[in-house]
Amino acid sequence: MKISGIIAAFMRGFPIAMTKSPVALLIALTSSALTPFAVQAKEGASAADRRVEQTLAKMTFEEKVRLLHGPMTALVPVTKRPQGVTIGAGYIEGIERLNVPTLVETDASLGVSNLMDMRKGDVATALPSGLSLAASWNPELARAGGAMIGSEARAKGFNVMLVGGVNLVRDPRAGRNFEYLGEDPLLAGTLVGSQIAGVQSNNIIATIKHFALNNQETGRNVASVEMEEAPMRESDLLAFQIGMEKGDPGSVMCAYNRVGGTHACEHPFLLTDVLRRDWGFKGFVMSDWGAVHSTGAILAGLDQQSGEQLDGKRHFSDLLVKAVEEGKVPRSAVDTAARRVLHAIYAHGVADHPLQPGQSIDYDAHAEVAQRAAEQGIVLLRNESNMLPLAASVKRILVIGGNADVGVPGGGGSSQVTPVGGLKRMTKGAESGPAAGFAKRAYGGTAPLDALRAELPGAQISYLDGKDVAAAVAAAKVADISIIFAEKYATEAADQPDLSLGEGQDELIDAVAGANGKTVVVLETGNPVVMPWQAKVPAILSAWYGGQRGGAAIARVLTGKVNPSGHLPVTFPASVAQLPNPLLPGTDAAPADKETRAVYGLQAGTKPFEIHYPEGSDVGYRWFDWKGAKPLYPFGYGLSYTSFRYEGLKVTGGKALTVRFTVTNSGGREGADVPQVYVTRPGKAKRLIGWAKPDLKPGESREVTVTADPRVLADFNVKAQRWEMPAGEVKVEVATSATDPVLTGAAKLGRISRKP
Ligand code: BGC
Repeated sequence: MKISGIIAAFMRGFPIAMTKSPVALLIALTSSALTPFAVQAKEGASAADRRVEQTLAKMTFEEKVRLLHGPMTALVPVTKRPQGVTIGAGYIEGIERLNVPTLVETDASLGVSNLMDMRKGDVATALPSGLSLAASWNPELARAGGAMIGSEARAKGFNVMLVGGVNLVRDPRAGRNFEYLGEDPLLAGTLVGSQIAGVQSNNIIATIKHFALNNQETGRNVASVEMEEAPMRESDLLAFQIGMEKGDPGSVMCAYNRVGGTHACEHPFLLTDVLRRDWGFKGFVMSDWGAVHSTGAILAGLDQQSGEQLDGKRHFSDLLVKAVEEGKVPRSAVDTAARRVLHAIYAHGVADHPLQPGQSIDYDAHAEVAQRAAEQGIVLLRNESNMLPLAASVKRILVIGGNADVGVPGGGGSSQVTPVGGLKRMTKGAESGPAAGFAKRAYGGTAPLDALRAELPGAQISYLDGKDVAAAVAAAKVADISIIFAEKYATEAADQPDLSLGEGQDELIDAVAGANGKTVVVLETGNPVVMPWQAKVPAILSAWYGGQRGGAAIARVLTGKVNPSGHLPVTFPASVAQLPNPLLPGTDAAPADKETRAVYGLQAGTKPFEIHYPEGSDVGYRWFDWKGAKPLYPFGYGLSYTSFRYEGLKVTGGKALTVRFTVTNSGGREGADVPQVYVTRPGKAKRLIGWAKPDLKPGESREVTVTADPRVLADFNVKAQRWEMPAGEVKVEVATSATDPVLTGAAKLGRISRKP
């Protein structure tokens, strides 16, 4: 990839930003911006901390500043890059004389990306999308996937992986939902924590992101999310908090958007009060690429400016030095930020395990990890008359659409992995708009068509691309079964206008299902979609973006080699009218002009606007519960080829809520179930407090115990700055989804009051 191409992609049409002066922003910062310096006094005497202090004592001021900023690698000419830096998202130059390694950064949560083929021809194992992982409800799987992609990152020469996207799905049209882990903070936080722990098991740093409230792409560089503290703490921030407790990431990436009018990367409340004071985070905060607007951000808690060329100003290098010289930023602020970067380096083994780029990778073994993940993420949404698994007697199968002859689709943007085998049938993501330059619509991994042929060697399987509806209908009439692959592309930097499949696919499915009653639809989407043809189609699978072995996973589920066990991590609404914001915020925002870009930077696409979330902390299924709205498919929903029975509910209240029950596989096949526990407090929307994923042989039973984290029961009391719940009775449900309780009980709980 030519550097000029990448520059063009990022900068097309955007003049260099003229940002607000650092002084103006310094004045704007509140007094709490100064707390980071106090926090350091309390650092424990762990081995990492001792090393940090020893190194820091030997560092010059220039060396400290060097750790606080770095470029986007692709924009640095090869001859100017430090030796041995693998091209990826960016790097932070190290200090050789003190053995402080250069931090070499790669995206992202679904594998080692190779955006715009910057490492010519380099491939990596592609995990299925984040929503697929979340649909597995399986933290061990998240850990295994993280460990696998982290090992590839290290083998290729990266010691920082920008993995850990945990923004909640607040709107099913948002472009990056496919990278994230669903709408529930407990589910998303638990999974991201496991994923991060897996990545970091390779002695590299992971970066939980995008902190915070970056829940849509429209206006992501200009929009301000207006939300009170309590709902913020109870939803999006809680997902981060749980993820950080479980995963201990070395870094946090602050987001592009504003929160309450302040840029997320210079937000004292988020970066200092919440992250440092309340959560005790000791690693470093890196900015998103092009999200820094001032040098004063360092006083709010930003430690490192990433992809600095995209900001137009070197806020954390030349300007920082100047601000220190002029006394506008105290030297101690530089020490604090450098200390945090060093902390992550030592605490996560980065200094002790130098990179050796070009290590060999066992792609076959890694593909198995990706396949297991894809298999557990597939959700069986509908299976009338047990149409699936496909009967062994099926002879003539017609496969239609979805580019199923070449691979499975993937999402676009910085998380896009070029899978082993390469990207196929690549087209531009969009003809215009912010995603057009760098997002690609493409397919890869095992092709579902090939995989089906391999699983069913005795069947005659033909393929049509579905563009000619009449031809598809004629062929469906003479087939035993039609399998339609329906896809919807999603990408970073652009949201989706609606929830429909588009591209004539609804009409195609309707016509084919009308011609052949035995029709299966396999959805390959980055988001929930509506299904106007649902009643006509007896079997529907949601296979998301399946990654490296997506096709194989689909074929194994269709044929019954794998019993589906995925459950929805997001609500599938019946229509946009059911959403808290039927009109996606910013849809009608005016395009950015010169003044907007001068303030908001290179990537400002529209004029600034506010985002209000009427649902507050009642995200997703909780909003539907509150409103009494009936979704198309509820959160938590998913069928199996076997059946499960729940019994023996025992609920213990008092100080802690513990829920016990027995799950039995009451059907004829081995399978894994995801029984979920929801709690409803008087006058509140219901809430997931835990789940299990037992794998059971026919007739086998297992007792499951779920203990509630008090934070998912309580409210955040802003005045007291505590999680609080009055003593009282709560309703408990053991359920197969957010709307399908099987066992119900109640518990009297004591008062909850705990620190944030
Ligand atoms: C994305 C981040 C990504 C970064 C570096 C940004 O556009 O929002 O998720 O890590 O680019 O590529």
